[in-house]
Formats: sequence, structure tokens, C-alpha cells
Amino acid sequence: MKIAVVGAGAMGSLFGAMLAEAGNEVWLYDVWIGHVQTINQNGLSIEREGKKIKVHLKATLDSAQIGQADLVIIFVKSTQTQSAAETAQKIAGKDGTVMTLQNGMGNADIIADFITPERILAGTTSHGATMLGSGSIRHAGMGATTIGAWAQTEQGRQRARQFAEFFNQAGIETEAITDVRSVVWNKLLINVGINAITALTGISNGQILDLEITKELSCAAVKEAMSVARAQNVSVREDAVEHVFKVAEATAANRSSMGQDVDNRRQTEIGAINGFIVREAKQLGLDAPVNRALTALVETLQCHY
Ligand code: NAD
Repeated sequence: MKIAVVGAGAMGSLFGAMLAEAGNEVWLYDVWIGHVQTINQNGLSIEREGKKIKVHLKATLDSAQIGQADLVIIFVKSTQTQSAAETAQKIAGKDGTVMTLQNGMGNADIIADFITPERILAGTTSHGATMLGSGSIRHAGMGATTIGAWAQTEQGRQRARQFAEFFNQAGIETEAITDVRSVVWNKLLINVGINAITALTGISNGQILDLEITKELSCAAVKEAMSVARAQNVSVREDAVEHVFKVAEATAANRSSMGQDVDNRRQTEIGAINGFIVREAKQLGLDAPVNRALTALVETLQCHY
């Protein structure tokens, strides 16, 4: 299969490499000149469980070089989804499938402005990756991937099953599910409860649990988000708050991705996480004061780097 990855940072490079290792033709498209040059000259270097491997695949700054791909995976940060979707539209042509495993909500809807929803697969992944430098990543964690059709049609569901099977054959443990919105929402609730608080305070994920007042803040943000989900008839897990705390405990030593973005003075995905809750709540006539405050603080911080 011919696969293109749009946004070949930590996660895009990782998925591109795993699919290339399974024998597929993979193209990485990115706007980062040094990264693309290094991959083309020396291959992609992957650090995994203390060992280093090299994977050779094609990288480009020019999407026209790729031609048409059967599958386009979008792995930019959510702030760049629109531009990535425009690129994906060209590469996917009339029949190609476009997949997003990005964090946050709203990515698939942005992609749907460019690609018919029947051809969009969305989902989540528990793989983790870190950028070490141009042409170099660390495969930081392994876990399951879940995908589903953005359009709730039989054709879409069949496509999800086909690609789940294809990923499994490539060694990427993947499950096709019917209610993808719930899965993406449940992941969103984790990010709502952890990311902004850790980004603003400099703490690690586990430190959210140290003070009752921090736990209350996280709990309030998650409960507001759950009210929005329910008002949209999305079923989210009842024990979402407890689940967020369990994830904080299981990843205690980690700094959240938003925390890392703030540490490195990069724009964060706040708009697709807590900011998404604020916008949706407003549309529904609900109030989300905790998420509004968290969003305002992170936006203020990143505006004044
Ligand atoms: P990253 O910053 O490492 O990679 C993003 C890449 O997109 C960069 O290489 C950047 O140069 C490129 N890019 C920016 N604008 C572009 C454009 N217009 N066209 C093409 N490429 C462009 O980010 P990441 O950590 O790989 O995360 C990607 C997404 O996956 C995010 O939504 C993130 O939340 C999610 N995610 C990350 C992890 C993780 O462990 N890193 C895990 C699960 C989900």
C-alpha cells in the first residue's frame, strides 16, 4: 500500500516507520527542512528500549512529489490541521482514505471540510513518541490504537475494519470500533483534566494528585466537559474523573504534551482541548468557567513567550 504521512514529527515519523518496516511504500511530508533532509540522507533514527535502529523511507517538502496515496495519515499538531487537510486532499485524490489519530477534538471535522466523511477515519493511539532532533525520534511508549469511521455508514465501518486489519498485519495493534466519537471524547477528557493544569504549573502528571485543591480543579474541568458531551448525546465513561486520576498515577513521572510545548515555548493544542469545551459549551448555552479560565491562562502564557 502507498501511504503518506502529513506532519512527520514524533508520531508521524513513528507510524510512517512502522508501516515502512512492514513493507509498505511510505512518504513523509513535513515543512521542517532539516528533518526532511536528514531522513533522505541518513534515514530515520529510532530509539526504542535503549536500542537504536535506522529506517529508510522517503521524505519530502513538496507534496506533489508523492503523487496519489491510498492512505494519508495526518499527524500535525491540531493548530495546523487545516493546512494539513488541504495537503491531504491533494494526496488522497478521489478515493484515498484520510486518518487522524491526533489529540483534541475538532480535527476530523476540519478534515471533513476537504474530504468526504465516508473517507475519514479517526481514532486514538496509546503509542508515544518524542522528537530528539532532526531525523531522530524516541519510541517512548507502546499501546493499542483504535480507529473508526467518522461517517456512521456501513461503507465507513467497513473501511475502518479493513484498515484496522491492515495495521494489525503491520504489527500495529489496532481495534476498529463503531462509536469513534465516544473514544475520541474519552481521550479528550483525560487531556482536559491533565494538560492545562500541568502546563501552567510546571508539574508532572502525577503531581496533580498531591493536593486536594489540584484534584478538585481537574475534577471540575472534566465534569464541565462531561456535561458538554452529554448535551451532544455523546456517551462518555461515567468514571471519567477517576479514570483521569488513574492515568495521572500511571504516567506520574511524565510531563504532559502541553507541558512540554510550554517548556519549549511552542504553541499548544489548548484550542482543541479545553478551548474546544468552552466553544461547544457556549453554543449549547452552557457555562464552562473552569475550562474558560484554563484556556485563558494558557493562551495568555503562549502569547507572551
Ligand atoms: P510534533 O510537533 O512532533 O510533530 C508535528 C509535525 O508537523 C512537525 O514535524 C511539524 O514540522 C509538522 N508540521 C507543522 N505544520 C505542518 C504543515 N502545515 N504540514 C505538514 N507538516 C507540518 O507533534 P507530535 O508529538 O508528533 O504530535 C502530533 C499529534 O499527535 C498531536 O495532535 C498530538 O497531541 C498527538 N499525539 C502525540 C503523542 C506523542 O506521544 N507525541 C501521542 C498521542 C497523540
